[in-house]
This record gives sequence, C-alpha cells and structure tokens, in this order.
Amino acid sequence: MSKKQFKAESKRLLDLMINSIYTNKEIFLREIISNASDAIDKLCYLSLTDDSVGLNRDDFRIDILVNKDERSITVRDNGIGMTLEEAESNLGVIAKSGSFQFKGEMDGEKAEDLSIIGQFGVGFYSAFMVADQVTVRSRKFGEEQGVEWKSTGADGYTVTPIEKETVGTDVIMHIKPDTDEEIYGSYLEVWKLKALIRKYSDYVRWPIKMDVQHQERFETGEKNDDGSPKYEYRMVTENETVNSMIPIWQRSKSEVTDDDCIQWYKEKNRDRKDPCALVRVNAEGAVSYKAMLFVPGEENENAFSGDNKGGVTLYSNGVMIMEKCDKLLHDYFDFVKGVVDSPDLSLNISREILQHDRQLRIIGQNLEKRIKGELEKLLKEDKPKYQEFYKNFGNDLKVGVCDEYGRYKDFLRDLLIFYTSEDRTLTLKEYVEAMPESQKVIYYATAASVKQAMALPQCEQVRKRGFEMLYLTSPLDEMVLENLHDQDGKSFCNVVTDDLGFETEEEKKAAQERDIENKELLDFVKESVGESVSKVRLSRKLTTQACCLTSEGPLTLEMERYFRHGPSEEMRKLRATRVLELNPEHKAFAALKDAWENDKEKAKKLSQILSVLAEMTAGMDVEDPASFAEQVAELF
Ligand code: ADP
Repeated sequence: MSKKQFKAESKRLLDLMINSIYTNKEIFLREIISNASDAIDKLCYLSLTDDSVGLNRDDFRIDILVNKDERSITVRDNGIGMTLEEAESNLGVIAKSGSFQFKGEMDGEKAEDLSIIGQFGVGFYSAFMVADQVTVRSRKFGEEQGVEWKSTGADGYTVTPIEKETVGTDVIMHIKPDTDEEIYGSYLEVWKLKALIRKYSDYVRWPIKMDVQHQERFETGEKNDDGSPKYEYRMVTENETVNSMIPIWQRSKSEVTDDDCIQWYKEKNRDRKDPCALVRVNAEGAVSYKAMLFVPGEENENAFSGDNKGGVTLYSNGVMIMEKCDKLLHDYFDFVKGVVDSPDLSLNISREILQHDRQLRIIGQNLEKRIKGELEKLLKEDKPKYQEFYKNFGNDLKVGVCDEYGRYKDFLRDLLIFYTSEDRTLTLKEYVEAMPESQKVIYYATAASVKQAMALPQCEQVRKRGFEMLYLTSPLDEMVLENLHDQDGKSFCNVVTDDLGFETEEEKKAAQERDIENKELLDFVKESVGESVSKVRLSRKLTTQACCLTSEGPLTLEMERYFRHGPSEEMRKLRATRVLELNPEHKAFAALKDAWENDKEKAKKLSQILSVLAEMTAGMDVEDPASFAEQVAELF
C-alpha cells in the first residue's frame, strides 16, 4: 500500500506543529476530546429525527483507554464517524482550501505568523506533538465499511478500508519516547490524564470515561483474636466518569443560587473569604455568552510573586480555551476571577489573536460595566465592605486612572474613595456635594499617614474655616488627582503648595510689604541653612506653628518620598524644590530676628534648627539627627 503525501502546505504546517508551535503540548488531549465531542453532537442531533441511530442521549460517551506496554492512548467516541473519503479529506489536509491561504512567509519563525495557525482546523494534528504515530479507526453512521487512517507525521499517511464493529471513531496515539527535555511517558499515567481532563475538558457535555484503579478494603472472612472481622486491601478497577459535564455557570439562576456559586468559587480558588461581589451574566444577542465573575474578598497571598493573581478563564461551549485571559478585562480589573463561556469564541490558541477578537472585546466591555455596577452597589449599600475591597484592590483602580494618559479615568472616577479630615471616606462626588457654598476648591493634604497629615501646619487655616480636606496617604493618590484634573468643575488644591485663596487684597499687599521688610533676614537664613532648601520666605498659611517645609514646581515632597524607593537610580535621586516658610507671627521668629540683630552666630544656629524642625513636621527623614540634637541641647 503506497503512502500518500500530505498536500504541500499541510506538510509544512505539520512540520511547524511537530516542532511545537504549541509550546503547551498537553492541550493535544483537549483537541482530540473536543473532536470526539463534536462527532457525538452530530450523531445525537441526527438521532432526534432518525430512529435508526438506535442510541439515546445517555448512551453517548467518550472513553480514554491507556496501554502502557504499547505506549498508547486511545480516545474513543461513539459519534458520527468518518467515511474513507472523509477521513482522507478531513485528516489529510490541514488547511482546507479557501479558508486559509498558506503563504511562503510562514517559514519565518515569527510568532504572529505562527499564531494564525490556531484559527483553523488543525486541532487533530496537535496529537503529533506527543505521538510519533497516530492511527484513526472510524466507521461512519449508516456505512458498513470502516476506515483506518495512519500516519507517522510529516512523511505522509495511509488509508485502508477495515471492518469495524461499531459506529464511531478511535484515535490511537502512540506516545513518543522520552527525551531529556520531555517525559512523554507521563501522558500514559492515569492521574495525569485525569488532571488534564479536569483542567481542559471538565465541562464537555458527554461523559469522558476512564478505568481508574483504587484500593478497596474487603473482609477476608477470618476473625481477629478479639472476634472482630479481618480486613485486607485489594486494587479494583472502576470505570469512572472524569468530567463533571455541566458547568455551574451554564445553569440558570433558578437552578443555582448565588451561594452555590460562591461555594464553587471558594473551592476552586482555595479562598477562605467570601468574594465581595459576584456578577452573573447570561447574554443572548449579537454575542452570546455566559459569565460568572467574582471580586475576591481578600488579596491573594501570592500577589507578589504574581502567580495567583486574578484572571478569567475562557471557555467555548464548555471547552477551556484559555486559563487566564488577560485580554478580556483591562488591567484595572486584574483582580477579578471567574469564567466566560461563549460559543462565539473560536478555539483559538494564541493570545495575539484574542487581542483582536471583536467578540471578546464586546464581552469585555459589557462585563466591565457589570463589574463596575456591582462595585458601586457595594459602595452604596455596604461601605465597610467596600473599604475592605478598596484596601485590597484600590491600587489597581488608581493605577488604572493614571494609565494610558488617563483614558479610563471617567469610567473609574466614582469607584475611588478618600479618607477625609472629618474621619470618613467619601467619593469625590460626595465630597463636592457636601461642600459649603463658600468653598470653591477641593482641599487635600498628602502625607505618609493620616496622623502626619493631621499634623501638617499648613492644614490649620483650612481646618479653621471648617473646610473638609482629603488626606492622601497613598503615593499614588496625588497622581490620581492630577489625572482626574477636577471633580464636577471643582479643581484640587494642595494645602501645602497651592494658594489657598483665603487672603484678601489688603492681606496680600501687607504680606508683600512684610516680605520686603524682612528680605535681609530671610537671605541670612537661606545662607545659614545652605543647600538643603532653595528658598526661604514668610508663610501666609501658618497660624500656631513656627515653620514649615513646602515645595515649588511640579514635584512635591510627597512624590519625592515615593520616588526614593523607586526602581531606578534616576528616580531615587529626584528631589523636590524645597522652600522653608517661617511664621512671622510666631515667637520663634521674634527670637530669630532678635538674635540676627544682636548675635549672628546664634541666629545662624536658630535658622538651622528651624529648618530641621520644618523637615520633621513634613515627615521627611532628618539627615543628621545627632548634630541636630547637639544644636538643640546647646540652647540651654
Ligand atoms: P476542526 O475540529 O477544528 O475542524 P481538526 O483537525 O481537529 O479540525 O479535525 C478535522 C476534521 O476531522 C473535523 O472537522 C472532523 O470533520 C474530522 N474529525 C476529527 N476527529 C473526528 C472524530 N473523532 N469523529 C469524527 N470526525 C472527526
């Protein structure tokens, strides 16, 4: 019998496949099982109208048979089967004409080029990633004769008519010998196959059955000395259904309660806490899909290593096509876990293609709206729980606001909450709604902690007027506000660096005159403290405190503090332009002035002490605490 050659393009494709375009070899089983499942679908459909099929819905099954001695795995189905001609045309040509123009440039090893392969029916060929010979024995429903198709890979295939007793198809894969890189033999282990079926094909609608051995205790018939029965153990083989068949998300809300879903989620993800939000969608229309998504109740323990982040698993009709799809939702919803199942998604293998998948984009957009809706509901109905969520995942939202030049800021805005000087958390909308008529801007203070923010001397004036302030304690907060730009037309005002807008024209004039009057003294202070500050001026904000540190220009002290732990040397070196402000009404200023007039040496020391005090209240590290202590002690 002569060997037939694969069509030229198929041969090249097969070469690529065997040299593993699919880096993930284990998916071969999913592909073969999903073909078997499709074949059963077809015969089952036929049985609805054709009594001669002679099978009931319950009779359909997929069997996995393992023969370790022969190193073979057989996937058997009692589906529609193939005729000789069909076997040849379906299995002999990978890329069916018209659907796929196989181009010369495919030889290039570029991933984008290769990823295109996943779009077309090449699933069956993935068997060659693990097998050095594949035999397909099939008999089509309604035919007397069966067919055997056999191939050892790129060199071609044979087709022979055979006798086959039953309708359906056996795909027999002869597993490759082990190599240094790959223990192919592991695919012959029942536990491994079971795990793969659970992972990729758990929700195939037909039972996937397999002989599984386990220990069983039995009574020997003899008795122990105390009269109790004697037991021994023996290995028994049981034909087990490995897959669970009906996915929980495919069931309707009347069949499965939210609590059932939560229970399922906790088991699947080994989460101890209940999720804080659940989204269940059953969409039918332009794009049909079912989705079940969860916002975890706690941050993943391994969040740092990144291997237990959230992620949505994609299914197409119960067949898993991607375990963690990072193209469905934007990064700001990275924490969301769950599943999306859509018959409209093709069994693509590549992430590159998914990125451009229109269906996936539509599903993603709809789901994002739903997730946002659930979070808003939580915020409204259970603030403490929302605060807990925000503690865990608020940073993802904040980064999202800053991402891509603020592209998503308006979508995310209402999900942001801020702690305020009134000891409560508010959204920006709520803050603005609570603003008195006389307040024109949104005040905020940044510090490493709420306690430090409260202690900021610059806050005094705002507090005195009874205005609420946002206390920003996350290094990201300030950047978030910058990206948001305003809330309902109200701009943001940093109480440390910005003009608070409290001064009348007369006060401004008086302040300017005072600046001129004290210019020489301020120059002296600047000279005394050296390079640690770039400017010294009289404060217009301080009331009870002697001095404070502030900054000029776009880089604030808070940002500097953040960047000090940044990833690059360049970042860590960034310094805010510091300004030392002195309170002209404070007795410390009077003492300084007096010393400057009478004892320049003392005035110099006082200047330096004031400068360090300002740094300390701003929450900055004091560079030389020992010499500071010495200077203070000398005053006594
Ligand atoms: P796809 O399933 O994406 O069309 P495959 O390469 O996996 O591509 O399979 C090619 C074709 O071979 C299938 O479309 C089907 O017609 C046929 N086929 C594969 N496996 C079976 C099977 N177990 N029973 C019947 N037909 C099959």
